[in-house]
Amino acid sequence: RNILSILGFSSIIAVIALLALGLVQNKPLPENVKFGIVLDAGSSHTSLYIYQWPAEKENDTGMVSQVEECKVQGPGIANHVQKLSEIDVYLAACMERAKVVIPAPQHTETPVYLGATAGMRLLRMKNGYLASKILAVVTSSISNYPFDFQGARIITGQEEGAYGWITTNYLLGRFTQKSSWFNLKPTGGEPQETYGALDLGGASTQITFVPKDKTMESPDDTLHFRLYGRNYSVYTHSFLCYGKDQALLQKLAKDVRNTDGTISDPCFHPGYQRKMVLADLYESPCTRKFETFLQFDEIIIQGTGNYQQCQQSILQLFNTSYCPYSHCAFDGIFLPPVQGDFGAFSAFYYVMEFLNLTSKEHLSPKKMTDMMEEFCSQPWEKLQVYFSDVKENYLSEYCFSGTYILTLLLNGYHFTAETWKNIHFMGKVRSTSVGWTLGYMLNLTNMIPAEEPPSAPLPHS
Ligand code: AMP
Repeated sequence: RNILSILGFSSIIAVIALLALGLVQNKPLPENVKFGIVLDAGSSHTSLYIYQWPAEKENDTGMVSQVEECKVQGPGIANHVQKLSEIDVYLAACMERAKVVIPAPQHTETPVYLGATAGMRLLRMKNGYLASKILAVVTSSISNYPFDFQGARIITGQEEGAYGWITTNYLLGRFTQKSSWFNLKPTGGEPQETYGALDLGGASTQITFVPKDKTMESPDDTLHFRLYGRNYSVYTHSFLCYGKDQALLQKLAKDVRNTDGTISDPCFHPGYQRKMVLADLYESPCTRKFETFLQFDEIIIQGTGNYQQCQQSILQLFNTSYCPYSHCAFDGIFLPPVQGDFGAFSAFYYVMEFLNLTSKEHLSPKKMTDMMEEFCSQPWEKLQVYFSDVKENYLSEYCFSGTYILTLLLNGYHFTAETWKNIHFMGKVRSTSVGWTLGYMLNLTNMIPAEEPPSAPLPHS
């Protein structure tokens, strides 16, 4: 009986072992994952994004996702003019992080791209030599890492707009007719409409969309793409100096002209005070048009917290007195009537999210105005206590930034109470940040085909 029971026990073990072996054999092989890195060298900061995708599905839309965003400590690279030797240390923490996140055997085949945006475009306008010098130091610094570095360059405003539009539609699954789990709307075989893209940085802002009227009046603002078997005629414009930090500098340079050095500023909260060196204000090419000789060299900004007055002051930054086209945004720049849904990201999202103005129930512009009036009038001391966990620099500027965003969208781009409903403020889609970086990488790694890839594998003949 003992032997039988031992035999019975061992056969059970054998069956379990065979089953386990079968399970192991049937287990899908670990996916062959590829990685790519893009550094967004923005005007106020640099972020390093790591993307991954299954190697076998490079041409399928929606396969690339973000695995990591590493925010580089410190300001934008254009602020390193006087401290070139610090760029190595500046980039080190995020580059080292990439070495940890990406498995070592894949380092040498992982492409790295660095794109600098409007902060560097402005520096190049002021001093081309210094801008090249910074890019050279950045290039030599990133070359010390084991990745496949593809270079650092200043991207154009058009590229910034176009790649932001590609990212938005790639993540929303708008380039294909197939419905998938993240895009459940039945399409009935009709090509889906793309989303427009609204991007707000510190130094520039971009608007990109497919207009209703295909006859574009300004060739400089038109791009033609063939993606996944469809042709797109896209309008895009980047407004340099109309990012939210440069717009604030413009406003201050405009307003300081009629003062003795102290600006009573309705875009800051009552009780708020900030000092600024006049030369710093005039250092930016964006303030040149307001530059005049003044008797003082320091400015004091004192908040008065009045939304309506703030909006009136911001409106003066948009010159709508002339338009050589059928429709213009401002400053004589062509802008066709806004059309369809829009994704609004980067600072559009950060600011509207903080102000609780991104809600799904779609607040009317009137309701938003009421909320902004209330917010701007709050005493600074009270806000600081209430939002003690928010960075003081951001907190002090949400009244200005929110007012600027509403004015830019409603008066600059001519969104109305009706079309406002089509603006969707979005930070991330499927855990991936919306911005130009993903579109840039997709393009440079040839991951968006001109023709739609066959949905079933080609027959083996
Ligand atoms: P850039 O550095 O050119 O990409 O611009 C980013 C802009 O977003 C700058 O004006 C930053 O000050 C702003 N920004 C980034 N994070 C936040 C935030 N959490 N709240 C408000 N503004 C932000």
